[in-house]
Amino acid sequence: MFTAVPARTRTTQTHCPYCALQCGIALTAGDRPATLVPADFPTNRGGLCSKGWSATELLDHPERLTRPLVRAVPGDRSSAFVETTWDAALDLVVARVRAVQEAHGLDAVGCFGGGGLTNEQAYQFGKFARVALRTSQIDYNGRFCMSSAAGAANRAFGLDRGLPFPLADVGEADVLLLVGSNPADTMPPAMQYLDASREKGGRLFVVDPRRTATARAAELHLAPLPGTDLALANGLLHIAVAEGLVDEHYVAARTTGWDAVRASVQASWPDRVERLTGVPVAAMRRVVLALAGAQNAIVLTARGAEQHRHGTDTAQAWINLALALGLVGRPGSGWGTVTGQGNGQGGREHGQKADQLPGYRMLADPAARAHVAAVWGVDPDSLPQPGRSAFELLDALGRDVHALLVLASNVAVSAPDARRVMSRLRDLEFLVVSDFFLSETAELADVVLPSAMWAEEDGTMTNLEGRVIRRRRTLDPPGEAHDDLALLADLADRLGAGAHFSADPETVFAELGRASAGGRADYAGITWARVDDEQGVFWPCPTPDHPGTPRLFLDRFPTPDGRARFVAVEHVGAHEPPDAEHPYVLTTGRVMAQYQSGTQSRRSRSLQLVAPAPRCELHPDLAARHGIAHDDVVELTTRRGKARFTATVTDAVRPDVVFAPFHWGGGSSANALTDAALDPISRMPAFKTCAVAVARVGGPVERVPAPTSQPVPVVLEPAPRTPLTPTRRRTAAVKSTPRFLQGVFPLTGEGLTKPGPVDPALTYTVPSGASAQALYFRGGNSTDELVYVLLVRDGEPVRWFPIGAKGDVHVPLRVVEDLPGGTVVSLHAAAPAGTTGELVVDLGLVEV
Ligand code: SF4
Repeated sequence: MFTAVPARTRTTQTHCPYCALQCGIALTAGDRPATLVPADFPTNRGGLCSKGWSATELLDHPERLTRPLVRAVPGDRSSAFVETTWDAALDLVVARVRAVQEAHGLDAVGCFGGGGLTNEQAYQFGKFARVALRTSQIDYNGRFCMSSAAGAANRAFGLDRGLPFPLADVGEADVLLLVGSNPADTMPPAMQYLDASREKGGRLFVVDPRRTATARAAELHLAPLPGTDLALANGLLHIAVAEGLVDEHYVAARTTGWDAVRASVQASWPDRVERLTGVPVAAMRRVVLALAGAQNAIVLTARGAEQHRHGTDTAQAWINLALALGLVGRPGSGWGTVTGQGNGQGGREHGQKADQLPGYRMLADPAARAHVAAVWGVDPDSLPQPGRSAFELLDALGRDVHALLVLASNVAVSAPDARRVMSRLRDLEFLVVSDFFLSETAELADVVLPSAMWAEEDGTMTNLEGRVIRRRRTLDPPGEAHDDLALLADLADRLGAGAHFSADPETVFAELGRASAGGRADYAGITWARVDDEQGVFWPCPTPDHPGTPRLFLDRFPTPDGRARFVAVEHVGAHEPPDAEHPYVLTTGRVMAQYQSGTQSRRSRSLQLVAPAPRCELHPDLAARHGIAHDDVVELTTRRGKARFTATVTDAVRPDVVFAPFHWGGGSSANALTDAALDPISRMPAFKTCAVAVARVGGPVERVPAPTSQPVPVVLEPAPRTPLTPTRRRTAAVKSTPRFLQGVFPLTGEGLTKPGPVDPALTYTVPSGASAQALYFRGGNSTDELVYVLLVRDGEPVRWFPIGAKGDVHVPLRVVEDLPGGTVVSLHAAAPAGTTGELVVDLGLVEV
């Protein structure tokens, strides 16, 4: 089924697995552990951040998944995981997928991908959905990151490439305006370009509601209320018009739609914009004068501007400003968006999106369908039509979509309104997750497939510049973990479509090139050999003798008339304005030593030392109003849920804004709070603003919440195959359903004051629309020490069960609370440091 690659001992040039800067590294591997040093690649020029430096730690992490996992009781996702063989796991996947499609139709099976997949994997996943499964239901987590900027760039320029110029141009800029971007924390090596610019007299302006590390380096920091960036951009454009700073020659020669935009921004007079945004008129004027007066000026937006209910229009507003000042397509100047995920760029080009085929071709376009179908060797009419966007797909789980295959994504933490998403995941008939760790999403699955990590697979990535680069396999995956490319090829084979798929990444890349030929993201002229020889190749690159395209739009825009399009856009008030109950604005984001949903970075010992716990940021005035001191535990409440954080009291955030990082799940899930209001064009959720209430719940504690490191799943002998019918599903005839968190688990004590999760299987989420009660607890302790088990509700301890040395307890719970739908219950345990033994637990609940 899979071909093992012999172990090699060598140093390989490859790239950091994390963000879109894709810093070059030299990885030495053979005998584990592998080691790395930074490389002098054009993006990082010898720099690395703490995430990159620590990346090899996870390759040999004890929690790596090394064998497929299935449920001990098939169909019962409250039963423990047990290891099984690849053949048994894939047979099960194919049987359940077929059963679901026979029962509910082809579109009842969905696929959810990620921006961390290689180009080859992302391309193959899109093809797998359309050819092997013939489902329209595929999208990916990049919809949560880049889709609004992509939508705006496509509308304005006819093409979406994050940076339409090399990163080196940023270092040459005389003026740089960053909007909702914080590279000092998210991609620190990129700061060398900002430093280079300032060292030669360049000026940096930052727009951000927080005084971030990047903002502190700026000449001027503008701190608008979250959700008002569009108003600010229109206000700046109003000033440019009023001051006669518009590049009329450029506008006339290279754009359309200016008259409508000029008329629309007349209403954005500076005093009005100051009232909306909180940014002083003088600051706005200073930015406009600087941008207009510079030889080379660049405007960069990122998620802070884009993750809004009107994120596409907001990105467009900043594009309008850049076009009016004649920046776009001028060497050394321009507008760009800073891509976040490692392959956020390539991941959105080749068919993971619900509406797209490889090369940015549109699935609804008959000519595009014919071209791609010819490359794939299938009938164009067999290709499904566009499906649902990411959140809409997740929200359809259990209703229209009954089985889901997830690759490289942890939606239980990263999706907005995360409790709702977890409830939808639980409503599925069948969930398959491929990952290298047992993520919060994998914990909910029927089948978990162990995947290879970055250093264990070959392929290409496309960085934030649109530069196609090589990810090189340097060592073998541990145990039986496998590359997702091979997984998809094998699954396709078992589904009867194997002739259309390959497990060889270079073969798949060549096919990707043919499928993208003539498309907007044209890779036809790129080969792995060229990528190796040329330190990457910028797309579009249509032929083998084409040099690639580091700078776009120099002569024309890829629109029908060759001109960029102004689009008039208007500020719209917040979709969820603060009120008496939720008086502040919540905004979410990243911290330097964590990455995305934290599946990897929360397991890194080095990174945990830097950012061990989720901390929200509160202004001193806001904190004083609620009696909150630095390090207190606070509870944030929105209309969707609650989450707890340790307070950082700082004047770096506006007095009316609360910042929370989104890298954690459980009781500190920022996305349990966020709103799934979608942008009407990009279908991106409004992660960056919603109304929130703040309350102090306690003083400093050692650990908030409990650490997320998970013990290795309990290993049992594979259960004999049994008919795969879902069990314990609620029906109208069933009044109540018993639920149990039970089993025998290894216990290693870290101290009686340091409880931690016992096992991922000991977590239960009350289904949406149901309620539950815990009725009894039984426990046994094989150690020579007193231990205790903690019943945790939504991250908050609610019951302690002491168990004496080699003792047992049976505790009927006479005081019980209703646990409403969405409540997460789990069992944690603590023992004196160094204690080892086994714990027997049995928590009985009833679900009504
Ligand atoms: S900046 Fe990004 S790519 Fe570079 S080392 Fe850090 S996480 Fe990795």
